[in-house]
Amino acid sequence: MKVLVTGGAGYIGSHFVKMLIDNGHQPLVIDNLSRGHKEAVPQNVLFEDVDILDTEALSYTIRTYLPDAVVHFAAYAYVGESVEHPGIYYQNNVVGSLNLIRLCAENGVKNFIFSSTCSIYGNPTQVPISEDQPSNPINPYASTKLIIEMMLKDFETANGMKHVALRYFNAAGADPSGAIGESHNPEPHLIPIILKTALGERKKVSVFGNDYNTEDGTCIRDYIHVNDLADAHLKAINYLDNGNESAIINLGTGKGNSVLDIIEKAKTITNKEIPFEIVERRTGDPAVLVADNKKAKELLNWIPKYSIEEIIQTAWNWHQNPKY
Ligand code: UDP
Repeated sequence: MKVLVTGGAGYIGSHFVKMLIDNGHQPLVIDNLSRGHKEAVPQNVLFEDVDILDTEALSYTIRTYLPDAVVHFAAYAYVGESVEHPGIYYQNNVVGSLNLIRLCAENGVKNFIFSSTCSIYGNPTQVPISEDQPSNPINPYASTKLIIEMMLKDFETANGMKHVALRYFNAAGADPSGAIGESHNPEPHLIPIILKTALGERKKVSVFGNDYNTEDGTCIRDYIHVNDLADAHLKAINYLDNGNESAIINLGTGKGNSVLDIIEKAKTITNKEIPFEIVERRTGDPAVLVADNKKAKELLNWIPKYSIEEIIQTAWNWHQNPKY
């Protein structure tokens, strides 16, 4: 299948591209490389340095490649940054996605897979979180993702382009090959920060609050391996290709780990000291985010395979020997 992948040089996108190739598909990656890494895209993969804000280049790419499906990862994805600079989030995520969705819908693309997020739920009223819980974004990043989900619905009504919006919980881990992994600058995510501390690249981990209503007082998150996420995208393409309806689907393991749990497990896996200190809560962090993943199992026949230990282990392999 010909699959256009936006943001294919980014963390989750590059793992998906590798999976596409391993399964005999033909990806065309577009990425403006503002946050992605060219090295994350294998040399034999078609690559265009195209920005989704550049409608002319985007239109040309879609009209000439005529993809069977489009998988849209390209986005800014730092919550804190989105609060400080909402403009670049609305510009890049909302306007960029509008360009892409409109051009795809108008050029006859049939199936569109979108990277959404569990942060759309805001502070959830019930955990585990199912897709029918109300969306209530509490930061601009989450708002942009919700707006894009709404656009997809409207363009389906107008043009018939089907979509699956995949609401990720906490993406983590790296491909077991060691060829690709997570590399953000700055790095805001817990597991890389812990592993960089184990490597001595950072002095200590700041644990954001230990007075939450959880067993050890620290936040609980549902960490999901990046290859399990990638696998769900492949299944989502097949799901639409088989004539099924558009859907919004959570992607998480259904299990939660606290910040202190992760530090403890990382200590065992790395066999290193991981100094930490408790600091103030980070604004906008809900106490517990854990997925109800029944819908993904039912509709996509998707079952996450990686344990939390394997997530940390594969991330550790990568961080000891990052390629970019
Ligand atoms: N966290 C932390 N210290 C850090 C980074 C993250 O205590 O330096 C906590 C954060 O409060 C959250 C969890 O780790 O409860 C996961 O945060 P991350 O930024 O990795 O992902 P998010 O949940 O924000 O998508």
